[in-house]
Amino acid sequence: MRGLFNRVVWTLFFGGVTVSLIFTLIEFQERNSHIYQVKDKKTPSDLHPAVEEGKQHLVNQAAEQGIDVVITDGLRTKQEQEALYAQGRSKEGRIVTYASGGESYHNYGLAIDFALRSDNGNVIWDRSYDGNDDGQADWMEVVEIAKGLGFEWGGDWKSFKDYPHLQMDFGLSIRELQRGLRPKPKALAEE
Ligand SMILES: [Zn+2]
Repeated sequence: MRGLFNRVVWTLFFGGVTVSLIFTLIEFQERNSHIYQVKDKKTPSDLHPAVEEGKQHLVNQAAEQGIDVVITDGLRTKQEQEALYAQGRSKEGRIVTYASGGESYHNYGLAIDFALRSDNGNVIWDRSYDGNDDGQADWMEVVEIAKGLGFEWGGDWKSFKDYPHLQMDFGLSIRELQRGLRPKPKALAEE
């Protein structure tokens, strides 16, 4: 009786381990089929096609709800990031980023920043503005659309909240991007 019980326990245990190993392997392969290593850690000169597509959908879908979205930033070179990082530190101004050169998803074409254009034509960062007059803040309506399109919102971050910021990380950390790993363009990923 005891022997049978042990055998059952062991079988369940090893069965469980095997199944979870298989799932880990599938996840690993799934991720690997979407990423690749670039030569010399080259950074892109355009937004990733999926981010570009998401950006256009965002602007269009917001417009359908009567919201005028302005994309204020997309791809940033390392030098541009350094200059922005200097703001509020070695240079005048208020701190707008905690990422120095190469530490932002913007540097890899994976992030955009947005703002709103109000009825009088001004670009605004007012998160309570309700221009389409539907009782909801336009800013959060845009965020909801963005999330539906697969973007992560900087306003959800725990430490530094970056309210205009939207990104797609494809499961890649900044460290991995710095090592030259990149999400494949859509066409390659679908091979
Ligand atoms: Zn940003």
